[in-house]
Amino acid sequence: NAPLSEVDPEIAAVLDGELARQRDTLEMIASENFVPRAVLQAQGSVLTNKYAEGYPGRRYYGGCEQVDIAENLAISRAKELFGAEYANVQPHSGAQANAAVLHGLINAGDKILGLELAHGGHLTHGMKINFSGKLYDVGAYGVDPTTHRIEMDEVRKRALEHRPDVIIAGWSAYPRHLDFAAFREVADEVGAKLWVDMAHFAGLVAAGLHPSPVPHADVVSSTVHKTIGGPRSGFILAKEEYAKKLNSAVFPGQQGGPLMHVIAGKAVAFKVAASEAFAERQQRTVRGAQIIAERLLQADVADTGVSVLTGGTDVHLVLVDLRHSAMDGQQAEDLLHDAGITVNRNAVPFDPRPPRVTSGLRIGTPALATRGFGDAEFTEVADIIATALKDGSSADVEALKARVAKLTADFPLYPGL
Ligand code: PLP
Repeated sequence: NAPLSEVDPEIAAVLDGELARQRDTLEMIASENFVPRAVLQAQGSVLTNKYAEGYPGRRYYGGCEQVDIAENLAISRAKELFGAEYANVQPHSGAQANAAVLHGLINAGDKILGLELAHGGHLTHGMKINFSGKLYDVGAYGVDPTTHRIEMDEVRKRALEHRPDVIIAGWSAYPRHLDFAAFREVADEVGAKLWVDMAHFAGLVAAGLHPSPVPHADVVSSTVHKTIGGPRSGFILAKEEYAKKLNSAVFPGQQGGPLMHVIAGKAVAFKVAASEAFAERQQRTVRGAQIIAERLLQADVADTGVSVLTGGTDVHLVLVDLRHSAMDGQQAEDLLHDAGITVNRNAVPFDPRPPRVTSGLRIGTPALATRGFGDAEFTEVADIIATALKDGSSADVEALKARVAKLTADFPLYPGL
C-alpha cells in the first residue's frame, strides 16, 4: 500500500510535472479539456481491477454487480443526454468506437465516403494507412476552395460518383456547423448509411449549441474527452435497429474487457454534461473561439498575412490560415509554446507547406472555458495570440509570458490537488 512517490518516484515526478505544466500554461489544443476531480476519482479507482467482458446482466465474469450499475448509468445518461435510442459506452477511444461502427455497419471491401483528411477529416475516416483506408474502398469530399466550407453539392457529387455504403459526416478540424438533414438526403439518394462522428462537437450538441446529428444519422460516434470534458474514451449512439450489430462489433469484434473505471468516469461526465453549468461553459467555449477569430481578423494582424479560415467560427475552435504569412505552422506553434500557450499546428486545405510544417494553427477554447475563462479573459488571450502572430520572430516573448502568467494565476487549476 505504499504511495506512488515511494513505489515509483520517477513516475510520481512526471505526474507532478504534468500538473504544474497544466496549471502554468494556457491549454488551447482544441481536442483537450480538464476533467472534473470527480472523474479523476472514478478513473483512479478500484474499478480498474475488474474484468467485465460482455454487457450489463450478460457478463462472462462473475462479480459484476457493481460495475453493471456503473455501465447502466453511463448508458442511460448518454441516451438521455443526446435523445438516442441506443448507446454503447465501452469503446476505449474514439478511434476504437469508429472501428466498431464500420465493423458493425459494413464488410471489408465496402465503400465509405468522408471528409478529406487534409481538409479536416479524421484518420479513421479513410486515411490510407489507418484500418479504415486498408479495409474499405475510400472516397472523399473536400471543402470549397474559396469558402473553405463543406458544400452539400460537392458531397452529393462525390456520393453519386463513389456510391458509398456509408457516408461519414464529422471532422477534427472544421469551424462550422454541419447540415445533417442534407447529409441524410444525400445518403438516402445513394442508398448509404449515415454515420456522424461528433467527437469534437459533442459537448456543444449536449448543450444545444450545435445541431444534433442523432435524429438524422443511423449511427453517431464520439469521444468523451474533447468538448464533453470527460475521461479519454469513446461511445456510440444509434437507432435501436443497430443495437445487436454494434454491441457485437465493439465486443467481441474490436475489444476484450471494458475499462470499467473509465466507464464510471463516463457516467460522471454525462451527468455533469446535463447540468446548467455545463451548458453555460459551452457558451463561454464558443464565445471564446469567436472572440479569438474576431481579433485575428483585425487589420493589424491581417496585414501580416494571417487569416482565419471561413472568416470565423461557430464552434470551439479557430483555424488560423498562415498560407500568406512569413511564419509557418511549426514556427507559430513554437512561438506560442514559448509564450506559454499550447496549440497544435494543422494543415489547412490546399496547404502549400509539407504536413510536418503546415500553414495553419488549430486553436481551441474548451479547456480554458472549463478553467473558468469568460469574455474578458478570452479577449486578453486573443490579444496575446494576435501580438505573437503579427510580431513573429521579433515578438517580446517575456512580455507575452507575463500576461499568460497573470491569467493562469487568476484561474487556479485543480486547487488543493
Ligand atoms: N474522431 C474524430 C473526429 C477525432 O477528432 C478524433 C480524435 O482526434 C477521434 C475520432 C479519435 O479519438 P481517439 O484519439 O480517442 O482515438
